[in-house]
Amino acid sequence: MPLQRDDCLFCRLTREGDFVHQAPGFVAINDINPQAPVHVLVLPERHVDTFRDVGEFDAGEAKRMLEFVAETAAKVGLTDYRVLVNVGPGGGQTVFHLHWHILGNLADRADVPAALQERAG
Ligand code: 5GP
Ligand code: ZN
Repeated sequence: MPLQRDDCLFCRLTREGDFVHQAPGFVAINDINPQAPVHVLVLPERHVDTFRDVGEFDAGEAKRMLEFVAETAAKVGLTDYRVLVNVGPGGGQTVFHLHWHILGNLADRADVPAALQERAG
């Protein structure tokens, strides 16, 4: 299977996006419609439709992808944050190129328990 797909928005953004962080094989961009004060998307350059197919990455790539998620959060100044993957339409996935959401500065969100909010300061 080719690394990228011509008709995929996120394949294009891995080539032309405005990156907040970049490493071989991976980029991070700000979400166009942020759901938190910090909302970054991590995109592998390799086109994989969905997290269900994560086995398409070899072990080294999968490890680097997870490390890149953590590095990206640190790079944008986060120590505490949420990492989220929506899987399939029923899980809220709208773009069918695997991506990781990093959500930060969640302290005033209603769905974050008060105890966590206090710790997050
Ligand atoms: P999903 O719903 O598939 O988990 O996440 C897709 C995310 O991509 C959404 O949060 C949406 O706001 C974001 N998004 C959609 N189109 C674009 C775009 O053209 N640029 C950027 N930066 N984000 C996008
Ligand atoms: Zn793609």
